[in-house]
Amino acid sequence: MIDAHIHIEKSPYTIDWINEYVRYAQERGLSEINLLEHTHRFTEWMPLYEASRKKDPLAAKWVDDHITIPIQDYYDFIQKAREYNFPIKVNFGLEVCYFPDKNEFIKDMLNEFDFDFVVGSVHYAFDVPYDIKGLSEKILWDKYPVDDIYEDYFDRCMKCVESGLFCQLGHPDTIKMFDSYKPSIDTAPLYEKLADSLHRNNVMAENNVGCYYRYGHPDMGLSDDVFNIFRDKGVKIITASDAHKPEHVGMYIKEITNK
Ligand SMILES: [Zn+2]
Ligand SMILES: [Zn+2]
Repeated sequence: MIDAHIHIEKSPYTIDWINEYVRYAQERGLSEINLLEHTHRFTEWMPLYEASRKKDPLAAKWVDDHITIPIQDYYDFIQKAREYNFPIKVNFGLEVCYFPDKNEFIKDMLNEFDFDFVVGSVHYAFDVPYDIKGLSEKILWDKYPVDDIYEDYFDRCMKCVESGLFCQLGHPDTIKMFDSYKPSIDTAPLYEKLADSLHRNNVMAENNVGCYYRYGHPDMGLSDDVFNIFRDKGVKIITASDAHKPEHVGMYIKEITNK
């Protein structure tokens, strides 16, 4: 069993901290964990958020509050951790907030370091974040028609997959997280198109349970409909907890493995 999306979220980075993750992984029967960081932690990634910072002052403030450390700290730590003998396989990667007009910048930044894996995730629609409780309602969901938000989200997901920059698409249906904002359009054809693209571009889709235990969404991971579309189209699906602390490593992975 693998947990393919786990946030370290704590620096300075230490082997002791990683061992906390490993301990929970072993308790939950995992043989492999993929640890990562958000690009919004690292000052060098600031240009990625240019459009969002211009678009809305609250979105700008959110990024400014989170983007605090140099990425060299992370590079140095990964190199150190690679020499350490963990009892299970531990991979180190990055979760990139995908913006379609930033392909060149992302490519240049990713060329700086040899990560074990890189996840592309769409966290933004109309250049403002869709998934931050207490903020996204105000700056996105109450401001734009829900159907338009979904269309923009899928457009970004398609471009993310087609960019050739990523091996894994983060939480593909997390756009559903606010249950009170439902689209009137049928999203199945959009997920089918996305599935075709994932398959064609050999990008894995996460079955990510973050929404379920972190935000209280009733679906444990991908909705059954989306899961079936991905499976029927031959998309490779990878299990992920989206843990943001050690005790969440491996949460519900057993339940969604071999679904
Ligand atoms: Zn994410
Ligand atoms: Zn994440």
